[in-house]
Amino acid sequence: MNRERSKQLYGAAREIIPGGVNSPARSWGAVGGNPLFLTRGSGSRVWDTDGNEYIDYVCSWGPLILGHANDRVVSAITQAAADGTSFGAPTERENEIARLVVDAYESIEMVRFVNSGTEATMSALRLARAYTGRSKIVKFEGGYHGHSDALLVAAGSGALAHGVPDSAGVTASFAQDTLLGVFNDLSSVEAHFDAFPEDIACVIVEPIAGNMGVVPPQEGFLQGLRDLTEKHNSLLIFDEVITGFRVEYGGAQQRFGITADITCLGKIIGGGMPVGAYGGSAEIMATVAPLGGMYQAGTLSGNPVAMAAGIATLEQLQEPDVYNALGAKAASLAAGLQEVFAEAEVPLRINRVGSMMTLFFNAGEVTGWETVSASDREGFGRFFHRMLGEGVYLPPSPFEAMFVSTAHSDADIEATISAARRALA
Ligand SMILES: *Cc1c(COP(=O)(O)O)cnc(C)c1O
Repeated sequence: MNRERSKQLYGAAREIIPGGVNSPARSWGAVGGNPLFLTRGSGSRVWDTDGNEYIDYVCSWGPLILGHANDRVVSAITQAAADGTSFGAPTERENEIARLVVDAYESIEMVRFVNSGTEATMSALRLARAYTGRSKIVKFEGGYHGHSDALLVAAGSGALAHGVPDSAGVTASFAQDTLLGVFNDLSSVEAHFDAFPEDIACVIVEPIAGNMGVVPPQEGFLQGLRDLTEKHNSLLIFDEVITGFRVEYGGAQQRFGITADITCLGKIIGGGMPVGAYGGSAEIMATVAPLGGMYQAGTLSGNPVAMAAGIATLEQLQEPDVYNALGAKAASLAAGLQEVFAEAEVPLRINRVGSMMTLFFNAGEVTGWETVSASDREGFGRFFHRMLGEGVYLPPSPFEAMFVSTAHSDADIEATISAARRALA
């Protein structure tokens, strides 16, 4: 497989873009080698600039639940763009997509659209602080909520893979109000509430961790967070930027039957365009300007092209049986891979919820940051490169989620399992 052109472009990129990439996870720092420059995607497939074809399990890191260049999404985007790409005035599409989100989530009566998941979580924190009048927040080790200052503490895959615990440039004064909890360990959160019973504005959590690899919540963990926050008049924020419209139409909240006070969304709701959103009860959202005193704005927020892509995506996800079919496909992929690894006697732990999963090169159970960190990074790196040679594009890090889309066929799943068998040989 020739990848010369990607290599050349990466070299050129590194002269004018830091590390050659516009987001660090794309640099392949965790697996070594040169990132592929991609030129085209269609359904489950992507093509690199040297013309090589791959079955794609990155799916833009989550947004592309319908696969690449979905017909209805592309035509919605094209039509919206032809009518003007931005107005800075309200448009009807914003009502439409807000209605779709409000109808999907019991806990959301009002929703504000922004341009990225980072903006959604950053705004949600400000909202929680404004609404409660408190300053401290609790987040979890290995939980990633975008790159705003207060949330860049022990922030998961990027930091874990690159060996940088926290970001430079985040001052102690920003980080001091961020308390760290241990995912799947309620007592770690209780301890913070014991120490600061009246100061914690919110607990923010990925209800299914997806940024230290997929780590599902253990029985009682999310309910425990719900009870603790309620007891202390603190807010519970579910960062459903990955899980929203991914694990169920109504996200993790529908899957586990637990409601958050504020929900952050992104990725899938933009259908591959830059979008984020945060929402909650009408009472909480009344704090947001211009209704209330918590300021948050955006020149391109609610952008018509992005809204069109999101609407076309959510509408297709309402079709019957979408989530069962996705889950079944991902389950057969997981089962096939597990078998192939067992045959090769390579330890593998697959954590999967619906169509999101991670292949941990790990002999034991993976339940949080500590067990995640015990995975064999080099083993994963070798497997990643061999799979690439077999035409399968996995996330270039041992601590990321891989995604199955509705465009992945049973034949794709079979081909992936066969590729893994050859890769391990
Ligand atoms: C991707 C992600 C974000 C950040 O979203 P961006 O659009 O990359 O800013 C926040 N939270 C979670 C859980 C994510 O997976």
